[in-house]
Amino acid sequence: MRKTVSDLHAELVRYQLVAWTAGNVSGRIPGEDLFVIKPSGVSYDELTPEAMVVCDLDGNLVDGEHAPSSDTAAHAYVYRHLPEVGGVVHTHSTYASAWAARDEAIPCVLTAMADEFGGEIPVGPFALIGDDSIGQGIVETLKGHRSPAVLMRNHGVFTIGKDPKAAVKAAVMCEDVARTVHISRQLGEPLPIPQADVDRLYDRYQNVYGQRSPR
Ligand SMILES: [Zn+2]
Repeated sequence: MRKTVSDLHAELVRYQLVAWTAGNVSGRIPGEDLFVIKPSGVSYDELTPEAMVVCDLDGNLVDGEHAPSSDTAAHAYVYRHLPEVGGVVHTHSTYASAWAARDEAIPCVLTAMADEFGGEIPVGPFALIGDDSIGQGIVETLKGHRSPAVLMRNHGVFTIGKDPKAAVKAAVMCEDVARTVHISRQLGEPLPIPQADVDRLYDRYQNVYGQRSPR
């Protein structure tokens, strides 16, 4: 899991979801009340499996030479409250954060959004770092949606997945649709997809498409 989480940080860079050190991936260790997360303040090109840190589900450092990411409390809260989640990603990716800055959910106006997110990408509450309020905002918002991504107001994106790779994919797709819908709106109002068609697309993609197993 240290190697998986370390390697996945390179994807955040490759898809241009992060500036400087502002973004992190974590992964639950199967069968344990532990997760692996990025160390705080270490640049992406210096990340190695050994540099990753291991925390318990209260966010306490269990193993590692560095301090854990400053977002560790939010990741830990998600793992404590959503047992099916095996990976969490946080970024300030540009277009998605621009929607978050306006407190505006991204409407479901693309079939790819219906496939991946099953509807709009919702906005969570404004919350400051330092206690459980970011984690609470993520969990409370995602519980009412199919979306594996939430735009935290005035902040950025948190995504969840069955494993860290799925959470990274959701972060990549979130930024992709945030950008496309933003551009679409420059020349008019994007058309919503009827709910029944959203449901059909979501069901097909999640349950039939490719090699995926149902979530
Ligand atoms: Zn942040």
